[in-house]
Amino acid sequence: MDEFALIRRLFAPLATSEGAAGLGDDVAILASPGNGAVIVTTDAIVEGVHFLTSDPLDTVARKLVRVNVSDIIAKGGRPFAASLTLVWPNGREADELQEFAAGLGEDLEKWGVRLIGGDTTSTPGPLTLSMTMHGHCPGADGPVRRSGARIGDLVAVSGVIGRGWLGLRAARGELPEEAARIWLPAYQEPDIQGLDIADLVARVASSSIDVSDGLLADAGHIAEQSKARLQLRLDRIPLALGVDGEDEAQVMEMLTGGDDYQVLFTLAPDDEHELRRSGLELTVIGDVVSGEGVDLFRADGSVVDVAKGGWTHF
Ligand code: ADP
Ligand code: MG
Repeated sequence: MDEFALIRRLFAPLATSEGAAGLGDDVAILASPGNGAVIVTTDAIVEGVHFLTSDPLDTVARKLVRVNVSDIIAKGGRPFAASLTLVWPNGREADELQEFAAGLGEDLEKWGVRLIGGDTTSTPGPLTLSMTMHGHCPGADGPVRRSGARIGDLVAVSGVIGRGWLGLRAARGELPEEAARIWLPAYQEPDIQGLDIADLVARVASSSIDVSDGLLADAGHIAEQSKARLQLRLDRIPLALGVDGEDEAQVMEMLTGGDDYQVLFTLAPDDEHELRRSGLELTVIGDVVSGEGVDLFRADGSVVDVAKGGWTHF
């Protein structure tokens, strides 16, 4: 059973509140007090899985904050509060915690988030960090869901895709030294979009998700929740690295390789001018049609086989 089947089968039946969206979204709605919605997300990062034992702990703290902020801003929300669960390995030098706290404080402030609580414990296992983050969606419509894509909408993505994969390769020691120096920061401290994207998403997006499982898998999540088909144009997708057009295998790695923390969203064609007006780095990469799943087309109209969808943990 993959990660998503497991969640669907074992946990979704327990998530009976409307705000949980059947565990089919990036955030849950906690309350809609009349001036928008309060939303919540949780993400954990684990030594040896999401960061290296040798990574400086201030960068680990920033990564923890950003993977959570990414979910909130992709929904058109502003993060405001976070709690931290720290599971510290027995025998690891506790002095390192100062570095962690410094990075944590800096990054929380950068995003306008206050720490409100947490829990601290120790383990014979790897350093494990979990953060729960709350955000506010000011509009009457609440968070932009994965489920709102409509037939005829355009599909857009922020930034570039592939930094996550290149960063992971750098972390695994698979890149030459110079390239590793360039891409390792994408793994250690993902350079996520700023709060401006939240405003744009809230204004124009019919559905939205942050890219954390690979672009194609996350497009698949929108397709599934929206009960529609996403048609993406391979030649339109902005890639982190110019690759030889022949090297489609490498392009596919970038499209399935995971943690880019960009925002993938759909919007009505009438709103396309808003993308340019925003001044943000945004690209239209496809459209929404009836059906299900994700299609990837080459410039010549031929279809790319997208067998390997993206990253899952099981
Ligand atoms: P994201 O990548 O946006 O953080 P995930 O792919 O991790 O989202 O999770 C998808 C959905 O499943 C989310 O709604 C999340 O809250 C839920 N989920 C994931 N793991 C669990 C779990 N162990 N128990 C309950 N819900 C979970
Ligand atoms: Mg997400």
